[in-house]
Amino acid sequence: NIWPDITTQKRSLCDMAHLLLDHIDIVATMDDAAPNAAPNSGSCGREIADAAILIKDGVIIAVDTHQAMHAMLDTATPAITDLNVMDMRGHIIIPGMVNTHHHLFQNLTRVVPDAQNKSLFGWLQTLYPIWQHLLPEDIYISAAAGLAELALSGCTTSSDHQYLFPNGSRLDNAIEAAGDIGMRFTATRGSMSIGESKGGLPPDILTEPEHSILADCLRVVDEFHDASRHAMTRVALAPCSPFSVSRELMRDTAIMAADKSVGLHTHLAENVEDIEYSLEHFNMRPGDYAEDLGWTGSHVWHAHCVQLNPDEINLFARTGTGVAHCPCSNMRLASGIAPVRQMLDAGVHVGLGVDGSSSSDSGHMLNEARQTMLLQRVIHGADNMTAREALRVATRGGAEVLNRDDIGQIAAGFSADMAIFDRNVIDFSGTQTDPLAALIFCGPVKPRHVMINGQFVVSDFHLASMDMGSLLERHDAAARQLLIRSGY
Ligand code: ZN
Repeated sequence: NIWPDITTQKRSLCDMAHLLLDHIDIVATMDDAAPNAAPNSGSCGREIADAAILIKDGVIIAVDTHQAMHAMLDTATPAITDLNVMDMRGHIIIPGMVNTHHHLFQNLTRVVPDAQNKSLFGWLQTLYPIWQHLLPEDIYISAAAGLAELALSGCTTSSDHQYLFPNGSRLDNAIEAAGDIGMRFTATRGSMSIGESKGGLPPDILTEPEHSILADCLRVVDEFHDASRHAMTRVALAPCSPFSVSRELMRDTAIMAADKSVGLHTHLAENVEDIEYSLEHFNMRPGDYAEDLGWTGSHVWHAHCVQLNPDEINLFARTGTGVAHCPCSNMRLASGIAPVRQMLDAGVHVGLGVDGSSSSDSGHMLNEARQTMLLQRVIHGADNMTAREALRVATRGGAEVLNRDDIGQIAAGFSADMAIFDRNVIDFSGTQTDPLAALIFCGPVKPRHVMINGQFVVSDFHLASMDMGSLLERHDAAARQLLIRSGY
């Protein structure tokens, strides 16, 4: 641990054989058990009132009504003799939300004045000269802060797209932070190889030789990737964007990902400048470029995709290629409104991303879900995206994008990852008619408890896995020092 003086509190509130969450007001399962539900009402799967969830060893054993659960428990053979029960009256439980796109290191450069009012390329060119001074301990502490913020918003799985490695920084630093926070994590090994001198966007000093990039990709996959069910750490490969790496690196990375059976991730079709770059440099649109280089398939997900056209949407649907939708970032950088309605209708897997903290600048999953619903309504009308559909995109949608069938639902055999909301807060007052929809309409609210892999990482609105005071102190100091080092 780079910061050994951060007190890691014992987070095993439920290190016990069986835990029963009982008398839950509503559980939105996101499962497939409500096939006949009307369109736009069954998006959350079964919605069980007075529900109970049985958990053992980080996995959901059963979910049902209180009555059916107790009937099952009463007749279980052998009898369950070590049952611990938590009364969840007054609470709503949804699967933990899945963040499919982030740049955690950007937590250190939020609201930098010169970057506040720029669109993508100008925003990047303002921040690159600061980011080139990042140190390994900065990567660790910004990841810890960003993941803590996400956990406190009800996120239980996050990906991170780390695409610059100055001064000895490594993917390892963020992976270590995720372990310390207790977040289920997909670390993506990003890269940039085409600097300014070769017509790319980043300064040359932030680029790496392509052979070194591929060697380190191989190292981190071999060292950290866990393909098993309920894995806490996975690795994916993620050249930063078509405008910062070569065609060869895109292709070779795709070949390595297929060879190693890991995911592939990048930024694609983020705004009109991005499309212009693609047409000018590759003589093709981003979708064709992706298809040409092996960047489609169920193991691939692209961030943003604001400017996808109908042919590209069909390509993604046909190939199972996923999209990380980042509405706040898209609005903040004026990139446009992603065609999420068309993607969902075509059958594209869509999940949410908070995007990096320098372009969002908030890591709040329910806020992104709310903005997703509102932004689609701006173009398509008030009846074109429901709160439940937004909740589904935030949970099961993200799981599908990360190509995981063990998270995103509250169902037997799934990981015990969930966000537990206390209805007895001001945000929920007056929402008796539809408290589940209130999570989106009246949000963003924060969960009271968050369970990841059967552990309470957030308990009573507080981070249980790390001392928040020390974390904030370290993070603020790191942010201050970074700006001083970069002469900002
Ligand atoms: Zn991004």
